[in-house]
Amino acid sequence: MGVELPSKNKLPVDLLDQRLTKALDCAQQISKFIATIPLDPSTLTNWSPSMKPLVQATRRLNQTEAVQGCMADSSGLTAKVPLFKNSFTDLRMSIRSFGQYWDKGYKAFYIAGPEKDVGYLLRVVNVYSVGEDDPIFVVLYGKRKVASDDDAFMRFLDHYQDVQGNIVHAKATKEEQNMLLKLLDMNSKRLVPEYDTPRIPVEKEFKISFLLPICPLSQGDIGTLTHDTGCVICGTTTKTECSRCHSVRYCSRECQSSDWKDHKPRCKSVTDGTWTTLNFASVAPGWFYWTVNRYDTLHSLKDKNNIKEGTLEPPPNLRGENVFLVKIQINGFDLLIYDRKKKLEVHVLRSGDPKGYAAVEKACSGKPKIYRWAKRVGDHQLSVCLDIAPQEDIPW
Ligand SMILES: [Zn+2]
Ligand SMILES: [Zn+2]
Repeated sequence: MGVELPSKNKLPVDLLDQRLTKALDCAQQISKFIATIPLDPSTLTNWSPSMKPLVQATRRLNQTEAVQGCMADSSGLTAKVPLFKNSFTDLRMSIRSFGQYWDKGYKAFYIAGPEKDVGYLLRVVNVYSVGEDDPIFVVLYGKRKVASDDDAFMRFLDHYQDVQGNIVHAKATKEEQNMLLKLLDMNSKRLVPEYDTPRIPVEKEFKISFLLPICPLSQGDIGTLTHDTGCVICGTTTKTECSRCHSVRYCSRECQSSDWKDHKPRCKSVTDGTWTTLNFASVAPGWFYWTVNRYDTLHSLKDKNNIKEGTLEPPPNLRGENVFLVKIQINGFDLLIYDRKKKLEVHVLRSGDPKGYAAVEKACSGKPKIYRWAKRVGDHQLSVCLDIAPQEDIPW
């Protein structure tokens, strides 16, 4: 999903499960669309066919995916999302396909592995609207695994083949099935307990739940999900950091040494460089601004909460003396510098700090953006390690 864990991590299962829950909630933007939990779907408005087709309303792309799609369109190709490579991408596509099939009148699904031998049954009971253009699917699902020689499966198949047109066989890897079930189980507990829907006999044991369209995680989501998570190896709450670089936390010497091979390149890139102080300007009160990152979803651009107003107050120092990664964008007039969580987002004007600007320009050597380690050294000052790039893949 974009959240990386050290290769030697020993995070306990319940902690990983908690993190997955949080990540899935970011991806389905639950807090944005569901105002009150438990949710009573009978209070929602039905999705009407005169609204957008669901295949469009369930589309959640980030900037990068949208650009790839446009480029493919303009060259007369269809942008194909590679399936069965990443279960999170598969999950996003599956939920879209529930919408796509609903548009065509299909409601029942058999979600199974490529051999179609064992899988789960799911029926979209209804689609409601939870925002201007935002659908929510109420679904019944059979968590019990069913095989093609299973009686229950055959009765479900017969019923929906006869009554509702057809049943869709949806291929899904085991990982995707597990992720979908996890999401369904999470949301199932968020419905008012008395809520139910008419069922055919074979659906008697099915659970009821809901699904929202799934977004790729934004840079801000990943920043939040990876912030202050304790020891990177075992998850124990700790404030002890690598004493050389202060960019990562460990609870003990054992955890630190088991991560050394992974951490060494980063540690060196932080400690061996030359640090330059940059003076940033405030955006004046009365001015409004927002920044767009290639991993932001197109959907989030419509969100007025992302627009910020200028202030002369220095931005809060949330990290003390700790080192953190920043992205620096240069455009000829100023530098835009921000961290992954977008908690710090500052401008260095060419006219305001000509020396700092020139140093960054040199480090960029023609590129529009670079990633570097930084630390806060004053109300309006950041120190940035300009000569050494982080030796890790930066996914934002
Ligand atoms: Zn530890
Ligand atoms: Zn270190």
